[in-house]
Amino acid sequence: MGSIYVQFGELVKALAAIEATTQRTTMVKLLVSLFKKASPEEVGKIVYFILGDLRPPWEGVELGVAEKLCLRAVSKATGAAVSELEALYKKTGDVGEAARRALAASKRPGLLAFGSQKPLEVSEVYDTLLKVARATGEGAQDMKVALLSSLFARATPEEGKYIARFVVGKLRLGIADMTIIEALSDAYGVNKEALEKAYHVYPDLGRLAKHVAEGKPLDEIRITPGVPVLPMLAQRLSSASEILAKLGGSAICEYKYDGERAQIHLTPGGVKIFSRRLEDITHAYPDVVKAVKEAVSAKEAILEGEIVAVDPDTGDMLPFQELMHRKRKHDVATAVELYPTVLYLFDVLYVDGEDLTEEPLIYRRVRLSEIVCETDKVSIAKWRIFDNAEAVDVFFHESVSMGTEGLICKSPSSIYEMGARGWNWIKYKRDYRSEMIDTVDLVVVGAFHGRGKRAGLYGAFLLAAYDPSTDMFYTVCKVGSGFTDADLKKMYEILQPFKIPHRHPRVVSKMEADVWFVPQVVIEVIGAEITLSPLHTCCLGAVRPGVGLAVRFPRFTGRYRSDKSPEQATTVAEMLELYKRQKKVVQPE
Ligand code: ATP
Repeated sequence: MGSIYVQFGELVKALAAIEATTQRTTMVKLLVSLFKKASPEEVGKIVYFILGDLRPPWEGVELGVAEKLCLRAVSKATGAAVSELEALYKKTGDVGEAARRALAASKRPGLLAFGSQKPLEVSEVYDTLLKVARATGEGAQDMKVALLSSLFARATPEEGKYIARFVVGKLRLGIADMTIIEALSDAYGVNKEALEKAYHVYPDLGRLAKHVAEGKPLDEIRITPGVPVLPMLAQRLSSASEILAKLGGSAICEYKYDGERAQIHLTPGGVKIFSRRLEDITHAYPDVVKAVKEAVSAKEAILEGEIVAVDPDTGDMLPFQELMHRKRKHDVATAVELYPTVLYLFDVLYVDGEDLTEEPLIYRRVRLSEIVCETDKVSIAKWRIFDNAEAVDVFFHESVSMGTEGLICKSPSSIYEMGARGWNWIKYKRDYRSEMIDTVDLVVVGAFHGRGKRAGLYGAFLLAAYDPSTDMFYTVCKVGSGFTDADLKKMYEILQPFKIPHRHPRVVSKMEADVWFVPQVVIEVIGAEITLSPLHTCCLGAVRPGVGLAVRFPRFTGRYRSDKSPEQATTVAEMLELYKRQKKVVQPE
């Protein structure tokens, strides 16, 4: 372990050698010898620097320095005009090279060669850069320039090159986290697998590096609320029987929601949400933060779920793309209003001091339902246990018709394997998606009371297709989208004369509507596709036992088909034909 301070020049020499080598093994060796010269504190800082960050990425610490600002700092240190530096940058296409040339050409009194000033040390550079990152608010830009120019003033041209590249985020050494782990393992004689495991629990390489350099045991590194863990990932299979066989005969099958994965950390300090890639995405979901505080009864917890966009009027799930509106940095408040979400929780990894990652999934599921009190905004992911492939398929079709991507089937006895894509979680998705090629004219047979803006009116309608052979109506969807406020009023009015206290005898439905009607009113509807669904009775059993046909993501087109009698509505045979003829689009992996 090094005891003297490591000069920044040493790090720069190593970086230049790393850039020059074509061998990964040499890269690792160069890192090992660098680590060995440094104190534990410095090893941590070196690791951050090499990775192009000042802190672990999930802390979201950003320097906030663009090329222009960096060149201003070089100008201040060298006396070269900014315009001159910009021209140099334009010519070389590399801020680092522009800085290097400018520093080489300048006669700076601070430079070692010209005076007695001490060379830069690793810690000084790192600490100053952290100050640059933390300078915010009024005067921040000038502060950043002043701090950076104090570094450039003392840097050799080669050092200046790497500082400049680092601050504008273009260090690009191509060193992966795994390369660092390997080098740490070699440098300190710690088991590589154990290091990787610690990294999965606490993915902060700078801290991990310091920890091992201090000779501390790895088992001290534990799951910590506030620090995201690497998420468990799923394998993929395309049939229910293969999935059950792989999972040992029975599986916890969960709806596979189509939204954004969210790792939610509840601490006394507040709620933080991390993405699948461990970025802090809390700012995009203030509504989820609030909803989690209300729904979860724990002081500290780490939960996993999927944030799904929902139709603001009906609460129905919408496709993933709708969430993109939330990604705009500005005006989150409006986006929250216009694009509401629901959080579907599917796992819990930690509750009030209790590390649950080594517990079987079935137990974690029980703990989850113990600490979550479901609300409009927070739900527990729908799940069931199956040991029969046909039943899994029926559940799969139900899930898809509700707007999800399929199922995630999980081994009930599996622990939470951080960072692993193993066979304990298996995705069951469709290989293709279809596209509904035409509109359909369906009969309103029931309705559901509206909430919120739709209170006092109907919020959604149960629609059916006609079967001339039995003279009956079979349900195909529940539709709430596509209606303007005026449409909702109109629908309410035109349906009143047909209201009856029970399901009409000519209607076959598995769904229970709040209000039933005599089949009379016909409206035009389009959907994303026609899918199989056990929730609807249209063509029940025609394609597969136990499942019928449904319109997925149905929407009213705005056309009232008052010109059509209910017997002239789309027939069940036409629905089947549409299902078979719809265009199949291969699903991207
Ligand atoms: P991966 O995340 O496996 O690399 P991917 O990004 O392509 O793959 P998908 O193939 O869509 O994602 O499937 C995995 C994702 O499904 C998870 O990362 C998670 O976001 C989402 N998901 C939805 N519902 C669940 C659930 N019940 N359990 C686990 N994951 C779920």
